[in-house]
Amino acid sequence: MLTQPPGVDFYALDELLTSGERVVRDKTRTFVVENVLPTINESWEQARMPIELVSELGKLGLIGGTIQGYGCPGLSAVGAGLVSMELARGDGSFNTILAVQSGLVMPSIYLGGSEEQRQRWLPAMARGEKIGAFGLTEPLVGSDASHLMTTAHSAGDSYILNGAKRWIGNASVADVTVIWARDEAGQIGAFLVERDTPGFRAEPIVGKGAMRAVWQAEITLENCRVPAENRLPNARGFRDTTTVLTRGRLGIAWSALGHAIACYEKALEYTQQRAQFGKPLASFQLVQDKLVRMLADITAMQLLCWRASRLCDEGKLTPAMASLAKLNNARKARQIAADARDLLGGNGILLENHIIRHMTDVEAIFTYEGTDHTNTLLVGREITGFSAFG
Ligand SMILES: Cc1cc2nc3c(=O)[nH]c(=O)nc-3n(C[C@H](O)[C@H](O)[C@H](O)COP(=O)(O)OP(=O)(O)OC[C@H]3O[C@@H](n4cnc5c(N)ncnc54)[C@H](O)[C@@H]3O)c2cc1C
Repeated sequence: MLTQPPGVDFYALDELLTSGERVVRDKTRTFVVENVLPTINESWEQARMPIELVSELGKLGLIGGTIQGYGCPGLSAVGAGLVSMELARGDGSFNTILAVQSGLVMPSIYLGGSEEQRQRWLPAMARGEKIGAFGLTEPLVGSDASHLMTTAHSAGDSYILNGAKRWIGNASVADVTVIWARDEAGQIGAFLVERDTPGFRAEPIVGKGAMRAVWQAEITLENCRVPAENRLPNARGFRDTTTVLTRGRLGIAWSALGHAIACYEKALEYTQQRAQFGKPLASFQLVQDKLVRMLADITAMQLLCWRASRLCDEGKLTPAMASLAKLNNARKARQIAADARDLLGGNGILLENHIIRHMTDVEAIFTYEGTDHTNTLLVGREITGFSAFG
């Protein structure tokens, strides 16, 4: 069995966790070590999605994050974050499958859905028996998501959807995709589109150099008719999309932390073992400088995640706070992955050492759930009162 070194905890942050949060973290870590790490490099090379592992994770009661009831674990925001962190510490692609399911789709249905919609989808998704996708981004509308162009016109007891979506994680294998579209009144709403609905097509995007073990799809919606009851009744405008994204961004801050920890752990171990100029690499001052910077950044990232998540549980997390955590942690993880790659020399680009996979995956999380610029402008608007978006 592969062994996983203990997590990085320079400031004894473990003491800030509840015993339940520690259990969830350790359960996730064990799952990743036993089920994800042994095959992930092969899956990454073959661009194969280890979708079969989702129901295994479901059996452990780790899908559904903070959602209470409906078979979901009802974790604290810290507990849900620790699950994301440990999944990402193992692998970004597998974590992304769950970040979409647990972090975007299920909260959309929980917050925006009717009781019937919640009952129909949430328990099955929590068990990992049903897969969901979240369709917001479009080919012509990325960062500017509030100006989405997909339309949903009412036609008696149904809606007719037309438009296109791009980069939609899980969509080509999902049982249901939450499609964000604009109705005749110009209001943004969310519609549950099931896999075999005529007029819905989802094709995986190929040729990716990051997140290779999860598929994102290009979706076309051509006169796609969905029953009127598939509209989420409580998703009424982009403000509600933002509510979902705020939680999602906090989850990505935790994911970035997981990637950073994996890279730091490997770099520390490698530089202690490899010698050059007759001494271990870790004994050189320049190498120590890099390792210490990584540790300082990771410790700050941990504190940011912990505090933002406790604020989330108290109902005090603002969208700008989530943006700050996401942008800060994604930036730091990007630097840590690049430094760790460097410290392994040529071996840093080999998949068997895992860092290059984390490094490319961090490129994707730097972009998704709001690019670095988008989240910066959201925080900038909050602190200055001026919008610099357009
Ligand atoms: C692996 C992956 C998974 C994804 N999963 C999903 C998913 O499941 N569901 C979903 O809906 N979407 C998903 N996305 C889409 C993701 O959210 C978008 O890629 C992201 O919002 C950026 O949009 P874009 O790629 O069109 O880039 P663009 O918006 O075209 O941005 C390109 C560049 O321009 C910059 N830019 C744009 N506007 C401004 C501005 N006003 N000021 C300064 N700079 C600006 C951006 O910061 C960026 O650097 C995913 C993307 C990736 C790569």
